[in-house]
Amino acid sequence: MLDVQAIRKDFPILHQSVHGKPLVYLDNAATTQKPRQVIQALVDYYEGYNSNVHRAVHTLGQKATAAYEESREKIANFIGAPSSQDIVYTRGTTEAINLVSYTWAEENIGPGDEIVVTEMEHHSNLVPWQRIAQAKGATLKGIPLKEDWTLDMSTLGSVITERTKLVAVTHMSNVLGTIVPVKEIVQAARRVGAKVLIDGAQAVPHMRVNVADLDCDFYAFSGHKMCGPTGIGALYVKEEVLKEMEPFHRGGEMVREVWFDRATWNDLPMRFEAGTPNIADAIALGAAVDYLQTLGMDNIRQHEIEITSYAIEAFKELEEDLDHYGPRDLQYRGGIISFYAEDVHPHDLGTFVDSYGVAIRTGHHCAMPLMRQMGLPATARASFYVYNTTEEIDILVDALKKALRYFSK
Ligand code: PMP
Repeated sequence: MLDVQAIRKDFPILHQSVHGKPLVYLDNAATTQKPRQVIQALVDYYEGYNSNVHRAVHTLGQKATAAYEESREKIANFIGAPSSQDIVYTRGTTEAINLVSYTWAEENIGPGDEIVVTEMEHHSNLVPWQRIAQAKGATLKGIPLKEDWTLDMSTLGSVITERTKLVAVTHMSNVLGTIVPVKEIVQAARRVGAKVLIDGAQAVPHMRVNVADLDCDFYAFSGHKMCGPTGIGALYVKEEVLKEMEPFHRGGEMVREVWFDRATWNDLPMRFEAGTPNIADAIALGAAVDYLQTLGMDNIRQHEIEITSYAIEAFKELEEDLDHYGPRDLQYRGGIISFYAEDVHPHDLGTFVDSYGVAIRTGHHCAMPLMRQMGLPATARASFYVYNTTEEIDILVDALKKALRYFSK
């Protein structure tokens, strides 16, 4: 069980009024708030030991390098990676997926090959594969959704074929909250010798993830959705795959020896981290991992199941005017609820509830193909995290009731 009131004390930003009402922050799928412990890690670095990493012999440089690498260890341990060498720092999920598309996919995907995604991907895990498919003469295929908003796993045998080279799937949908049985997908991909990339942007912050157990080849996620800073994230790559990959960016620190006309590459994972990295944010991401581990990932998941089930129940009061989407079975559902009211544009709904202090996201959520499939121009979305309470759900539902009344006039 999480002590939510104690947790809320760690988040300075939550203690403010918006339009004269206490802030109710329900846009956690877009980005989460940061606890003092993470903010303090940034302050400690900049006030105490700001220095470049992997270069200097001086004390501050040594301290910065140790903290930067310690953070990598924490991240590896957090997601069950066999070694910290398998973790490449990136700006976030988007950069991590692009890294794979510009390196591994460039070299390994050719004419007639197939790349398999799901029908509910974020643009980050779709547009990079469109580029590869177009450039290489490969085909992009989608695992379809069922009416209950879970993946139609019965199609795996026909969608994933001998031609499939890469299966790139989300672990949790940022629109529907659907949790994807990625382990089964990895097993199906293995049968045809395809590699698997998992977009874990919405999964790593909310549940226990173990990449070694999943046996995936690539796993991408962002720090800012898990109490960490923006501008930092990570890509896990299975060692045997990473060893064979060509560098992404070229420049300082990713090299071992440079002549005028050629160079050799540094060890893993530095080979993939050219230039001065985002040191402060990498260290603060380690602090975010510490914070989440202290709370316990199973407790976090349990809290979100409780909040989501409370929200689904509370939304029954709105069901005449408002539909919501996503699996009803909470075993397959994270803390996300997307909704749509026939008579009110989601942006109007979002602006109205903001005047009651409630922050929700409205729009296509960077998943336009899914919106089209849902037959909607956009949805409103409430998404929950460790500091959200059932009282906040009541405030949301109350504000939505007022909005629906107001716009039906
Ligand atoms: N994938 C999913 C499922 C997401 O929800 C997001 C963020 N909305 C991303 C990828 C992209 O993450 P980032 O913007 O941090 O790169």
